[in-house]
Amino acid sequence: VAHDPYNQLVDVPRDSILVFDPAERRANATILSLVRSKEVNELVMTMKEVEETFNHKFNYPWTFLNDEPFTEEFKKLTSEATNSTVYYETIPANHWNMPDFVSKELAIAAGQRMLQQGVQYANMMSYHNMCRWNSGLFYHHPRLQQFKYYWRVEPNTHYYCDIDYDLFRYMEDNEKTYGFTISLYDDPNSIVTLWNTTMDFLSDHIDYLHPNSALGYLLDNSRPDHNKIAGYSTNHFWSNFEIGDMDFFRSEPYTQFFNALDVAGGFYYERWGDAPVHTIGLVLFEDKHKIHWFRDIGYRHIPFINCPNSPKCKNRCPTGDTYEGASFLADEVSTPIWWKYAHM
Ligand code: GDP
Ligand code: MN
Repeated sequence: VAHDPYNQLVDVPRDSILVFDPAERRANATILSLVRSKEVNELVMTMKEVEETFNHKFNYPWTFLNDEPFTEEFKKLTSEATNSTVYYETIPANHWNMPDFVSKELAIAAGQRMLQQGVQYANMMSYHNMCRWNSGLFYHHPRLQQFKYYWRVEPNTHYYCDIDYDLFRYMEDNEKTYGFTISLYDDPNSIVTLWNTTMDFLSDHIDYLHPNSALGYLLDNSRPDHNKIAGYSTNHFWSNFEIGDMDFFRSEPYTQFFNALDVAGGFYYERWGDAPVHTIGLVLFEDKHKIHWFRDIGYRHIPFINCPNSPKCKNRCPTGDTYEGASFLADEVSTPIWWKYAHM
């Protein structure tokens, strides 16, 4: 059956016309959620939407990860929300906790200072651990070694539109490395030295810079009043939704990049998020054509939305309006900046 997942959208990209046959082989992939047991109700709500819009047609396994063992209640409620295989995994302590080379005292002091600057969660060590783990460690978890692709799903996010094609096969067949729904500007106070640390790394490894990178997205100057820090536009793919190829993150350039950031200490002395870290690594080291904006995925993580004008959304998006690459808080959304440098 010839199938166009973007039907009735204007400007359909050529590579989005797929042949849909659910009986064909699946990709080597898992849906992934880092979550705490107490978030089970929010997660089950989101799971139901992912299952209803996508996964009941494709049956990809779910992998749940936590820094402590999941409760029996968590396992019961989540396994009831899907027909797919479910994995419950604990994160090794040496992946999660603050590494020894970081000074706990300095980290606590920095957290207090950033909190006063309005940096969200700056004083929560668990949040710093989470950002570091998501930046450079999740794909080393033993369970994830068997998988190539992941789709990150957070509790309390929404999926509004039917996805009638296999997203993971789309990644594989079109040789995509990474997919996102929303691009944002970041809080410069959370990443004061991230760009300088990146530039130090890059000057030692200039061969890692991809000749077809979308470097301009990171340097964009179209809003000089807005958030730019040390030359970095703060543009980033919002990582609470992401579909990625873990082989990229496991590759030499990204591995060395993460290690250089890690020893610089900014996951604790500042509050570097996994979104800018993933983004900078991807944009510098990957061909821009391998990074894909999923315009057709109706998605919401408070307070931002990506929702296409498509019958597949059956008016489930929160208002009568649609938010293709935009948002009701458009001031903080930079998806159009991505289009500009990805030549869309
Ligand atoms: P925000 O989106 O930046 O506001 O951060 P969230 O609170 O949504 O956290 C991001 C993701 O990490 C969510 O999936 C959370 O469930 C998860 N998370 C955050 N902190 C922890 C933690 O300490 N332990 C575990 N297991 N998950 C966490
Ligand atoms: Mn969140």
